Amino acid sequence: MTAARGTDGVLVDRYGRVARDLRVSLTDKCNLRCTYCMPAEGLPWLAGSQLLSDDEIVRLVRVAVERLGVTEVRFTGGEPLIRPGVVGIVAAVAALEPRPRISLTTNGLGLDRLAPALRAAGLDRVNVSLDTLDAARFARLTRRDRLADVLAGLAGAAAAGLTPVKINSVLMRGVNDDEAPALLRFALAHGYELRFIEQMPLDAQHGWDRAAMVTADEILATLRAGAGPDTEAGLRPEAGPPTAADPHTGASLPRTGFDLTPDPAERGAAPAETWLVDGGPARVGVIGSVTRPFCGDCDRTRLTADGQVRACLFATEESDLRGALRAGADDDELARRWRAAMWGKRAGHGIDDPTFLQPARPMSAIGG
Ligand code: SAM
Repeated sequence: MTAARGTDGVLVDRYGRVARDLRVSLTDKCNLRCTYCMPAEGLPWLAGSQLLSDDEIVRLVRVAVERLGVTEVRFTGGEPLIRPGVVGIVAAVAALEPRPRISLTTNGLGLDRLAPALRAAGLDRVNVSLDTLDAARFARLTRRDRLADVLAGLAGAAAAGLTPVKINSVLMRGVNDDEAPALLRFALAHGYELRFIEQMPLDAQHGWDRAAMVTADEILATLRAGAGPDTEAGLRPEAGPPTAADPHTGASLPRTGFDLTPDPAERGAAPAETWLVDGGPARVGVIGSVTRPFCGDCDRTRLTADGQVRACLFATEESDLRGALRAGADDDELARRWRAAMWGKRAGHGIDDPTFLQPARPMSAIGG
């Protein structure tokens, strides 16, 4: 499909896709060190002068909402909750007209404390990342012993009304791929919506291996089969058996399989394909970015913490809005540059293309 070049109005690309969902990274720093994301020592962080100020972020989001047709704003990182101005940024974005829907992707640390203020500021809901329910495994995977804090964050978000609270889980072979059913039991028991994300080639260490990746098909098969984390089928002696108990309540999580049927609700541009669990209404989602790409329906545009527009997670080009903004560009000029950046969006991420190159920025510096 071809489209008319976007010189006015929305963020359209040459394939006719319109970006209405803006992901804004508030920082590249994180207080966890997930092994599949960044090395133990962290990364060379952006300097303070490179980061957009709170006012610069709000100005760019305003341009996106008022001039470019953005209707959804998702704050991410790095870890967005470690940005001191996060509540004020949410409040300023919630005051925009037309008011966008506002969500935030977080590892959950500190969310129990911040959830009421974020809710009062206008945050609509959160996605909390959680890959295991076992404290020892969590400590190995994230290199921090903080499972209890994430669980408190989940509970705090639900109590503050940041609903639906969604959980994002990445499964890795031999690490936590035996935990899919327990994670789903846990989510169902507490009204959280679980989404599994296929691991993508976006790690800072460039250690991603397509052959070792846990695929969407495998995730669905494991959920249908059940099998708890400490059953014979799922035993990971090298990692130590994770608990099959609900860490919120201590109740045991049953190990039976699930009946999954395709969700009749229209998917639209959502990255997650969803299934009704045991007839519904509860759902589970799988974001099969690698084996079931959804680039044809992508409606996302991304702004990094240092003010670069990215048309795609996997883009190798960026467009510098910070430089333009600091050089005195007016809103029209910023909007024009943003449209030009999105016009060049590629048809697909090309992971399966032999010429595929992993982007220089890792996931933590783009904003997931
Ligand atoms: N710190 C926040 C968090 O933990 O949600 C936001 C940033 S984090 C980069 C966003 C999401 O990206 C998390 O759910 C994380 O598990 C996921 N992620 C990180 N690296 C990934 C990769 N290589 N493939 C797939 N998902 C990844």
